[in-house]
Amino acid sequence: MTTGKTLIRGARPLGADPVDVLLTDGTIAAVGADLAGPDTADAEIVEAKGAVLLPGLVDLHTHLREPGREDSETVLTGTRAAARGGFTAVHAMANTFPVADTAGVVEQVWRLGRSSGYCDVQPIGAVTVGLEGKQLAELGAMHESAAGVRVFSDDGRCVDDAVIMRRALEYVKAFDGVIAQHAQEPRLTEGAQMNEGTVSAELGLGGWPAVAEESIIARDVLLAAHVDSRVHICHLSTAGSVEIVRWAKSKGWRVTAEVTPHHLLLTEELVRSYDPVYKVNPPLRTERDVRALREALADGTIDCVATDHAPHPHEDKDCEWPAAAMGMVGLETALSVVQHTMVDTGLLDWAGVAERMSHRPAEIGRLSGHGRPVAPGEPANLVLFDPTHRAVVDPGSFASRSRNTPYRGLELPGRVRYTFLRGRATVVEGEPA
Ligand SMILES: [Zn+2]
Repeated sequence: MTTGKTLIRGARPLGADPVDVLLTDGTIAAVGADLAGPDTADAEIVEAKGAVLLPGLVDLHTHLREPGREDSETVLTGTRAAARGGFTAVHAMANTFPVADTAGVVEQVWRLGRSSGYCDVQPIGAVTVGLEGKQLAELGAMHESAAGVRVFSDDGRCVDDAVIMRRALEYVKAFDGVIAQHAQEPRLTEGAQMNEGTVSAELGLGGWPAVAEESIIARDVLLAAHVDSRVHICHLSTAGSVEIVRWAKSKGWRVTAEVTPHHLLLTEELVRSYDPVYKVNPPLRTERDVRALREALADGTIDCVATDHAPHPHEDKDCEWPAAAMGMVGLETALSVVQHTMVDTGLLDWAGVAERMSHRPAEIGRLSGHGRPVAPGEPANLVLFDPTHRAVVDPGSFASRSRNTPYRGLELPGRVRYTFLRGRATVVEGEPA
């Protein structure tokens, strides 16, 4: 894109009627019926052919694994995967080696993100030192660092000590921060391998009961209300969790929640295969939970979709179920899974998808420059998505360093054609630029 000008012809912003969209110097310069003319003669042309134009997606929950586990992902490979999935910003989780619990580590991740050029990386800081749940990390120093951290999480572990959780919620109020909780009561999930229920009993695998998630969410919404602070619930996975969040929101409490694409589609029945690609935390639940999660995302009880992209190398997943690591990659399939589960089912339109995969996550993370309307004067962070495309998921095509997708061989709709980060194409016809 040599002139810094791109003319996208015949795109459907948020699924509306086709228009032309002109990008100039990183900004949306014009949106209109036919923008071809002297002004656009030197522009790079992208024929959208009716593809849907959305604001660049924002992920609140990505594991980039750098520093420390570069064998599974790096900031560069992870941001390439993100761009390929239509994301222009991701929040990088803190459970790296070393843990992102100091200004130094979050700044390192932030700088790596800036140099990747594929996607903005907003580091998440750990709530407690070493994710050990005992002592608050340097939340203020991480916020004041160049990384400007506002979201804190011990994700992978739950902040289970109520006093520590309360102090963290109080602390982040000073700078409008939020605590993102991985809701998992540790004593109730010792040895847990899958959802607790009839299937776990049949398979003889340790159960992860719904109440272990729901009891922490109930406690945390009460704590957040008590100190009038913001709590965000990571990867809601049960119908009961939905009910608690709905109740907390009805009180006007400052609680937000996310759901992963895999919890919108997959159920615990898949565990019968004993294929560890389906092993994830929180675990895949029941059909009834999936239905409740979809409805809650549609009615806004659940604010947003977050991937919980969790890359693992082959040797950590291709082993016996009990020994396998938990987690799945998700950046490159998220939008397709959301189309399949929410749009093609009539639960959401494309404006609703933009709300839940761009506007709301950017708002929760207080990320400026992302999650903005597709309108003149706004930053040109955009994704051009063809919902008519259908393809079988081939992990071999992933930009991620890891291949642990639960969708291998499954036909899913939609394809990201282009992603633009401040007007520059980071993905061209489905491939990282
Ligand atoms: Zn988690």
